[in-house]
Amino acid sequence: MASQHITVLLVEDNPVFVRLIQKLLGRSEHPFFAVEPVGSLAAAIERLGRGGVDVVLLDLMLPDSEALDTFYRLRAHASDTPIVIQSALDDVSLASKAVEGGAQDYLLKDRINSISLIRSIHFAIERKRARGAEWSSAMFHLAQQQFLKAAYIADLDDNIRQRLLFPERAQIAALPFKRDTGDQVETVFAYRVQHVLTMGPTKGGIRYHPEVDLGEVAALAMWMTWKCALTNLPYGGAKGGVRVDPGALSSAELERLTRRYTSAFIGIIGPDKDIPAPDMGTDAQVMAWIMDTYSEHVGFSVPSVVTGKPIVLGGSLGRNEATGRGLVYLVAEACRHMGFDINGATAVVQGFGNVGAHAATFLAESGAKVIAVSDVATAIYNRNGLPIEKLKDHVREHRFLTDCPYGEVITNRELLELSCDILAPCALQNQITADNVGRLSCRILAEGANGPTTLEADEILKERGIFLLPDILANAGGVIVSYFEWVQGLQNLMWPLEEINDRMRAILTDALARTLQRAQTQHLDMRSAAVIEALNRVGSANQLRGLFP
Ligand code: NAD
Repeated sequence: MASQHITVLLVEDNPVFVRLIQKLLGRSEHPFFAVEPVGSLAAAIERLGRGGVDVVLLDLMLPDSEALDTFYRLRAHASDTPIVIQSALDDVSLASKAVEGGAQDYLLKDRINSISLIRSIHFAIERKRARGAEWSSAMFHLAQQQFLKAAYIADLDDNIRQRLLFPERAQIAALPFKRDTGDQVETVFAYRVQHVLTMGPTKGGIRYHPEVDLGEVAALAMWMTWKCALTNLPYGGAKGGVRVDPGALSSAELERLTRRYTSAFIGIIGPDKDIPAPDMGTDAQVMAWIMDTYSEHVGFSVPSVVTGKPIVLGGSLGRNEATGRGLVYLVAEACRHMGFDINGATAVVQGFGNVGAHAATFLAESGAKVIAVSDVATAIYNRNGLPIEKLKDHVREHRFLTDCPYGEVITNRELLELSCDILAPCALQNQITADNVGRLSCRILAEGANGPTTLEADEILKERGIFLLPDILANAGGVIVSYFEWVQGLQNLMWPLEEINDRMRAILTDALARTLQRAQTQHLDMRSAAVIEALNRVGSANQLRGLFP
């Protein structure tokens, strides 16, 4: 690309179409395209083996191979070369499956013109290149492929599709902070990513985790955009992260790190710009430090710069438990939809932090029998139901569920495969994969965590008839009550808890009903239906605002 000379391997057996592509690309001088046509899969594999190909334009129907088989066989020989699918078949599932499988883009033959073709090639190369660096996280790949699938089904405007594939703004900082011992200064990487700036201020949590990277934060920011749009909140998505193990830091170290984070990103956060909240590894205390640092900087108290802060500093009633509570509201609706009552159902919860412990509490309060829970250290199972309040006491005292005497110890893997009505992964990403999805034995999968299910597993869930409450819906209770906290802060009002919960329930129930309706009428999986609901809102806002200049 740097040399402005791009070698395109055109895998196509129709001479008319070969001439068309050559003509369309032949008009471009900057960059210059060298098109090398081959008419079969075998010839394409042979050409790739000789190297020097920048991008492959692939027809799926060839004399020696058909449909997805063509893509998968070629991909095995082109792991580093971006592939753009071109298909005469206006077939949603074929193109979207190829995209899910790693194709960078798709083009429908009857709609190709020189602009869309050149742009698609350029973008495929850029995406592939970007994935090689900081963006190379499996989570970002997952978020992008989910989005591309939904964009394809919804026939999203091509300009908007390309705008939404990467965040509008991403900032990286190397943060030095003093350790408690001696003169030691440690430097860690920190991120703030704002995915969409057109929907209002941006909104999203901050994650402290030893493996967080730019790609992971970008994926979470993109999911925040869909979550806010699906629930009609006036925000674009954002997310922050620090690559650090918070468990290895003292409270004083955490405070110094958090204040330094706030100061590094002070130019792009603010109550009208971007409003952080807690996520994995951060809590109300961390939000209090951010609020204080920001307020000191501007010279007066600004509670609305963060949400999820302590109540005494302007936090909202119900925010701490909102994600778990919202998840259980939706689970109760899903049970009704599936023809059984949550009261008496069996439930399994992975993760026993903010989301998991509250989800378990409200599941139990709703009459469900929580038969297993887990955390990073262990998993415990009791077929008669676990005493959730006692488990919470144990974790308060000992930090982890280890040695808790209320059930038998199992592995996290066994936990996910237990027979139950409701399975709620509330820990981290990449838990339900092609590997274990066939052994899941639940009726409802309620994604409290962000990104717990891989693309391959998604397909199998649908085939198996497991009802999915996708993350952007299932865990949206947190950002909804964060929104309430922000609104209360801006107006200096305090709403009673009952009002907060009622309003949250109404928003979630409405979002579920719209998602379900779309899934049923368009025969879609619940995740694609939810993303399309969100995309339609973001897409039309983008169209209405236009593009400056
Ligand atoms: P948390 O740090 O409070 O809790 C995480 C829990 O997961 C802990 O119990 C931890 O021990 C457990 N865990 C970590 N690794 C594990 C593993 N390998 N196996 C099993 N358990 C493991 O985090 P949280 O705020 O509860 O967030 C959990 C998930 O929910 C994340 O994906 C987060 O992005 C998502 N989420 C959180 C909120 C919120 O309001 N906190 C809102 C929406 C989504």
